[in-house]
Amino acid sequence: MSIIEDLVIASRVCAEYGVIDAYGHVTVRSEANPNHYFMSRDVAPELIQEEDILEFDLDSNPVHPNSPKGYNERYIHGEIYKARPDVNSIVHNHSHAVVPFSCTTCELKPIFHMSSFIGLGIPNWDIRDAQKGTDMLVRNSMLGKSLADKLGKHPAALMRGHGSVVTGNKIQTAVGRTIYLDYNAKMQFQAMMMAGSSESVVYMDDDEVAANVSWQEYYRSWDLWKKKWLKKLAIEKNEKA
Ligand SMILES: [Zn+2]
Repeated sequence: MSIIEDLVIASRVCAEYGVIDAYGHVTVRSEANPNHYFMSRDVAPELIQEEDILEFDLDSNPVHPNSPKGYNERYIHGEIYKARPDVNSIVHNHSHAVVPFSCTTCELKPIFHMSSFIGLGIPNWDIRDAQKGTDMLVRNSMLGKSLADKLGKHPAALMRGHGSVVTGNKIQTAVGRTIYLDYNAKMQFQAMMMAGSSESVVYMDDDEVAANVSWQEYYRSWDLWKKKWLKKLAIEKNEKA
């Protein structure tokens, strides 16, 4: 059991739940050196194996010379780890259910009890405010810092027309929040359609958010996901051997 194994499993789980496809990534801060983080080389998350995991410093430079190519958007992670010592894991994802909330005035709100962290506030970052005419990707530290500034102390931020970034103090929290952000977006859209407007929907209030958010670290979900994926990864290994 290692943090690298957890990172492989987290990537596979996010792909399984459709919150990341060939794009998007999960990272985890190094326990040995908090100024480093681990992230896969440039490969679809569903295919990641332990040997694909690279180590980066917080400027998002690879620690080891001759490392394979990393993801273009790794600066998202380096700049958030710099700004947020409380964050130990980050998921950048392109959930299709969440994107519409990033480019309309419909605000994501906590409609479902397992998504209570949304009540802590989810700012919406528009890359255009940092730089005009980009290809929408966070390709450098300047853009990563702008996103980290917008995130502030919040658990997640939307990225206009692109996706979101979700944080956690543990890897299972970041993964759980990512999946339940996607579920909440789907349920909120359904409720808004049924009710005819966002104002007619009943959301969790601040007291309910506070009562849930402190314990909601998705331990039981993580235990389930990990057991399933350890089995699947063992089968993959056997097939390769
Ligand atoms: Zn992206």
